[in-house]
Amino acid sequence: MEDLENMPDDWTRALLIMAHPDDAEYGAGAAVAEWTAAGKEVAYVLASKGEAGIAPLPPAESARVREAEQRRACEAVGVDDLTFLGYPDGRIEQSLALRRDFAREIRRFKPHLVITLNHHDTWAPGAWNSADHRAVGRSVLDAAADASNAWIFEELKVDGFAPWDGVRWVAVMSMQPTHVTPVSADSVARAVDSLAEHEQYLQALSSDPVREQAQRQVDMVTGGDPDQARVAFELYNL
Ligand SMILES: [Zn+2]
Repeated sequence: MEDLENMPDDWTRALLIMAHPDDAEYGAGAAVAEWTAAGKEVAYVLASKGEAGIAPLPPAESARVREAEQRRACEAVGVDDLTFLGYPDGRIEQSLALRRDFAREIRRFKPHLVITLNHHDTWAPGAWNSADHRAVGRSVLDAAADASNAWIFEELKVDGFAPWDGVRWVAVMSMQPTHVTPVSADSVARAVDSLAEHEQYLQALSSDPVREQAQRQVDMVTGGDPDQARVAFELYNL
């Protein structure tokens, strides 16, 4: 990690596009807290409500719980612009419709930096990534370019979403990082608060106390030493 370059900082708006509630909190939360504290604008778009994510809860109930948990998780890191696209959790396909919806959200928020989740097939050798993450990550990388092209989704222009060619980078929360964002101890603490808001989700995953789970996950991502904490990204230039 020590030899990785710092993430670019000369931007004002970042859009996180993820598959599920909690995807942002498991990785990028501390970086988001750092950015919003510095006055940058950050918005979240989630393809699904994660309604298939809590084993004991039926999807309709789960969607309500997880949407509310996600709103609180966003508030904990200074984000109030949150959009759910309503794709079916667990069955998201890499499709033109998905690319068009992401391109529309990019045109709406006009980010300079787009963040998404691991689009690679695996997390590590032998650790298969989920179908939703692969589909969403790859479609985000495509849509960041689509957003600037007036001729790919002409119907978006009819709906008032003019092309936006201001996206300069897509940063992916993958296991092949190229860049890091140093984060303060305060940002790490807010990331823990943010992940811990996914209370029912975490309770269903493990009997360990929710805050312990959240602290452990955030430490894993940020390195564990609050004075040297950082979040790593795989950066793509547009
Ligand atoms: Zn996920």
